[in-house]
This record gives sequence, C-alpha cells and structure tokens, in this order.
Amino acid sequence: MAILHEHPIRIQEISGNWYQHRVAQVAVLRLDLLHPIISGNKWYKLHYNLEAAKAKGCTTLLTFGGGYSNHLAATACVARLSGLRTVAVVRGNYKVLTPCLQACSEDGMQLHPVTREAFDARAATDWCNVLNLKPDDTYIVPMGGDNELGRAGAGLIARFCPPTFTHIAVSVGSGTTYAGLRLQLPAHQYVLGFAPMKQGSYLNAALEPILEGHTNRRIIDDYHLGGFGKAGDDLIHFMNTLYLDEQLPTDRVYTAKMMYGIRDMLQKGTFSPTDRILCIHTGGLQGNLSISHKLVYT
Ligand SMILES: *Cc1c(COP(=O)(O)O)cnc(C)c1O
Repeated sequence: MAILHEHPIRIQEISGNWYQHRVAQVAVLRLDLLHPIISGNKWYKLHYNLEAAKAKGCTTLLTFGGGYSNHLAATACVARLSGLRTVAVVRGNYKVLTPCLQACSEDGMQLHPVTREAFDARAATDWCNVLNLKPDDTYIVPMGGDNELGRAGAGLIARFCPPTFTHIAVSVGSGTTYAGLRLQLPAHQYVLGFAPMKQGSYLNAALEPILEGHTNRRIIDDYHLGGFGKAGDDLIHFMNTLYLDEQLPTDRVYTAKMMYGIRDMLQKGTFSPTDRILCIHTGGLQGNLSISHKLVYT
C-alpha cells in the first residue's frame, strides 16, 4: 500500500550549544515530514491494520478517538487516499466541530459523537449494530491504533534508528509506539518514554505483559506540564525558541513536552557525556491549529 513515500524522513542534528559537554549528540528523527496529516507514528500504527482490512475484503474502517485526535485525522486521510469508508465514534458531544474533527469530516469520515460514558464503555458495545454497519465489511481499528498490528507497524520505525544512538526518546499516549520500538530495537538501546499526561507512568506496569523480558526501558511522567493537552506560556515559549534556534517545529501535546523534558534532563545532568540521544518526532503538528496564533510557525 504505497500511498506514502518515506524519503522525506531524515535525522536532524540539534546544535551542540543545546547540550554542550553533557552528552555527545542529540538528534531528532523527523517522522513528521512523512505527511502533514498522516504524520509520524500514526501512519506506522495503521500500516498493518490497513493490510489486514484489505486482506479481509473490508471497505469500511471503524475507529475511535477524541476531538483533537491525531489518530482520527490520520485515519480519515489514509482512508480517503485508499478509497475506504471511515466511521468514527467520537468522545464528547461537540456543538461546534474542532478543527481536527472538521478536517476528518472533510476527508469523508462519518462522525458519531457519544457521551464520555458511552465512549469509555465502548469495548462492551456492538458498534456495527448501533451504527448499522455490516460486520463482514467493517474493520475495527482500536483508539490510537493500539493493537498487535499497531505495535508491529510502530516497530518499523526502528529501521530509522542507527545503532550508534544509546537512547531513543519517544512521546507516549497509549504506549503502542513505545512498545513497538522496544520490541524491535536492539537490546542495548535504552527506550525512554515521555508521558504528556499526569500519572502516565502507570503504563510501565500496564505494558509489562507485552514487554516482559525486554529491559532498558522506562516511561516517565515528570513533564506533563499541567496535564494532557495543557500548553502554558512556558511550553509555548519553548516551542517558539526551539523553532527559531533549530528550525524544529513541535506539536503542543506530545513532542514539545518530550523535547522540554530532554532539555531539562540534560541540564540536570541525567545523562552521561558519551550518550547519544535520538528523539522521535512522532508528528501531530495538525494539533497546533488551535494555538497557531501563538506560534511563529505553522
Ligand atoms: C498519538 C501520538 C503519540 C502517542 O503514540 P502512542 O503510540 O499512542 O503512544 C505521540 N506523539 C504524537 C505526535 C502522537 O500524535
């Protein structure tokens, strides 16, 4: 399913004055350059799920997400480019569509807003019945592409991580990308997950059944900066400075907090001077739409 080309992906060096003498190298894997909407990790988590949908002969994708979901935006766009129909169960009743949901709708995604309670109980609901979809024709992608095929697809990102890097940093939502990378990367590379929500380190225990026996990994939640989706002036200032100094655009929900965390850990001397850190830019820049007036980039 060659609807996207990987050639725009590259590794960008971060300039030495950012971390002078503290580590040997900091670089960013620019997965965001893959596509403006089907960006970063979302494409990889969908990759094998799309193949499975095709193999089963399904023409409809059914998925789940919130009003600012990069997963919904990516799925809607992928489906349009692949000639598939998409239906999404959306968490929360929006009177006015968010920019993200508006874009999903323009990509042909059928949106079914439900209450938070109904959304949280989604696993117990027969959605094909509720939404009048043919089960044989409907392929269900879980929220965030969080399934075994999603992890396998995220594992493909390991091909872009040279073995010379000692640490691979990645932002974490469901933990699918983090887990996929840990399963696929060589054991000597440390996988460091940054949770952008309060108490996100619960994922360490939650992922244990999947990652048992795979060491050199940890998810930290020290850099949620107020909680999921919260972006105060300090973070916005950091994002603008990072862009002006390094020409690196980050998204407010995930990648900005990872980079903020990396810088803080560097300043505190958490790493050793021989370490080489590769930060994965998982994309998500479409999520900046709602704060674009505060940013020096789009
Ligand atoms: C969805 C998303 C993540 C989290 O990915 P998971 O696989 O759910 O952990 C990280 N960064 C960005 C930009 C995302 O859109």
